Amino acid sequence: MATELFEDTKKQFEAALAYIPISKDAKEVLEKHKEILEVNIPVRMDIGKLRVFTGYRVHHNDALGPSKGGIRYHPLVNLEEIKALAFWMTFKCAVVGLPFGGGKGGVIVDPKTLSKRELERLSRGYINAIYDFIGPDRDIPAPDVYTNETIMGWMADEYSRISRKQSPGIVTGKPVSMGGSLGRGEATGRGAYYVLKTLLQNYKFGKKPTVAVQGFGNAGFHIAKFLADDSFKVVALSDSKGGVYAPDGLDPVSIMRKKEEHGNIEGVYCKGTVCDVIKHKKITNEELLELPVDILIPAAIEGQITKANASRIKATLICEVANGPTTPEADAILDKKGIPIIPDILANAGGVTVSYFEWLQNRSGYYWTLNEVNTKLQAIMAKAAHEVFDLHKKNNIPLRTAAYLSAAHRLVAAIEAKGTEEYFK
Ligand code: NAD
Repeated sequence: MATELFEDTKKQFEAALAYIPISKDAKEVLEKHKEILEVNIPVRMDIGKLRVFTGYRVHHNDALGPSKGGIRYHPLVNLEEIKALAFWMTFKCAVVGLPFGGGKGGVIVDPKTLSKRELERLSRGYINAIYDFIGPDRDIPAPDVYTNETIMGWMADEYSRISRKQSPGIVTGKPVSMGGSLGRGEATGRGAYYVLKTLLQNYKFGKKPTVAVQGFGNAGFHIAKFLADDSFKVVALSDSKGGVYAPDGLDPVSIMRKKEEHGNIEGVYCKGTVCDVIKHKKITNEELLELPVDILIPAAIEGQITKANASRIKATLICEVANGPTTPEADAILDKKGIPIIPDILANAGGVTVSYFEWLQNRSGYYWTLNEVNTKLQAIMAKAAHEVFDLHKKNNIPLRTAAYLSAAHRLVAAIEAKGTEEYFK
């Protein structure tokens, strides 16, 4: 499964190659990872025992700028997954026109089983282990699944401690008090909201389109909130423990509040689940994906819409806020069914875009207002969405292929600018 994930990501890019003149050189460079690092991190546990955690940091391609990508803490993290995620980051940064390449990192750990102190030691240990592999001009980490601003703050602090100088631009997604950008916490959801609003002009929906969101973490909560605040009806939400369904609509903000009140905040994670906090009909994650809604938003993890369930999807449109929630087999089935998919590399690029803003602010020492952040984010997301939609229409290709094509134009130009086999002949 893990090996397939990276091979699947390559297929998504290869589908776009028929629509762009690309040299053998550029194709070969983009199909391989630039650098891969595996580390083992010893952590002294509270009871005195030593545990060694395995982690990775991968650079896929840096033709457009330093590598950029999150750090994931999850028991199922593996190298193939991190390679796939780094590959997506290359294309995601390119599709929105950021001067960044693609990177990703992860540690094999169930972070919810660690105490706050153990989690801090692990996070500092990870930075210590990958220190020579990262840097504000080389590779800039950020949060991903089960890492958050507290953890980013520890990581930035550890980097400054080792380097003996302030380097806030080393990590993005930090607490605002440590140089984080206003608006970064909600940026992925907000960016997806801007993309959806831009593209929905091309599709016909009723006055109050219904929405189901799988994954009620950072990205899932914020997209649900922005849509509910607008003219959409969020009818279903879920997290790893299951979901809730209310055809009359749910209020994501009060559900999050209750989840936090109900679930004890242990370590740096909330232990509550959406299932505990409201009385609505309980559903499984599988059921949520198959609800008859206008818009389905997978915002949890990879591989959720597969050939096993794609034929039962009833949504009119899918917006991928998670990375890689749809397998290529499912893509083909949904394409045949005429269900458009706004692809991950476009839909969730708001997070890395505000990370870019954070990096810019850190490097200039000049900080922007929330309004400046959101205005610039909206402009970038709407422009990228229009570019992708135009390529989709012009070439009669799925939105995903169009997004890869849009990104490939920038990447191929940067790689080929250094010369190709034909040029040097
Ligand atoms: P998070 O850790 O804040 O939340 C993840 C959520 O998914 C949690 O609610 C968890 O309970 C739920 N979940 C986990 N396994 C699940 C399962 N099997 N079924 C249903 N729900 C499940 O993570 P996040 O930052 O919100 O990331 C979610 C997705 O969005 C990931 O694919 C991530 O790569 C992607 N993403 C996040 C950002 C960002 O800035 N946070 C940016 C781009 C992409």
